[in-house]
Amino acid sequence: MQAAYVISLEFLTSLPVILFAKNSHLPVPLSEKLSEIVNQGKLVSDEIIISLLSKRLDAGEAKGESGFILDGFPRTITQAEILEGVTNIDLVVNLKILEDVLLEKCLGRRICSQCGGNFNVASINMKGQNGNPGITMAPLLPPAHCMSKLITRSDDNESVVKERLRVYNEKSQPVEEFYRSRAKLLEFDLPGGIPESWPKLLQALNLDEYDDKQSAAA
Ligand SMILES: [Zn+2]
Repeated sequence: MQAAYVISLEFLTSLPVILFAKNSHLPVPLSEKLSEIVNQGKLVSDEIIISLLSKRLDAGEAKGESGFILDGFPRTITQAEILEGVTNIDLVVNLKILEDVLLEKCLGRRICSQCGGNFNVASINMKGQNGNPGITMAPLLPPAHCMSKLITRSDDNESVVKERLRVYNEKSQPVEEFYRSRAKLLEFDLPGGIPESWPKLLQALNLDEYDDKQSAAA
């Protein structure tokens, strides 16, 4: 699913998407070095990450890239501050979802103990309230032969997930404030999963017309 979104976004904007996530397919050499770091669970200094990113951006510029999209970075105020000294960020999109929904989705994660496939049994269907839109997220169910082999990772329990969310909020709030004070923050309330969110996100970014053209051409 993520690969499809990256390809669409790169097509629509003509900009490379640089992912800072587990198992991401970053361009070499940034990808190799960062995924190595992530996979080893090592804490790497922000300077190293920024210097790798900076090299990647310079290489892109030399190739004629007119910009870039960073996914999952910066995550802390320190990273945001260093990044500002390296390059100019035009817009930051803050994807937001109700914490209850996020918690339910995290607790709904299942892995097939045989094939290792990732699934999600949580089915979200919240009605809109007080003028807020509802949220719909379909479960990602496994094929029948995986159904009886599903397991839950031990760290996908409520107290661990809540702690992860607490740490995330604590670190991301100053980052949001950093970009809000520079009038660069676009708040985007996710209306559901990728199928529900994608058209609205393109609309918010003024990319929906391009998407119509892409659909027409397909
Ligand atoms: Zn399976």
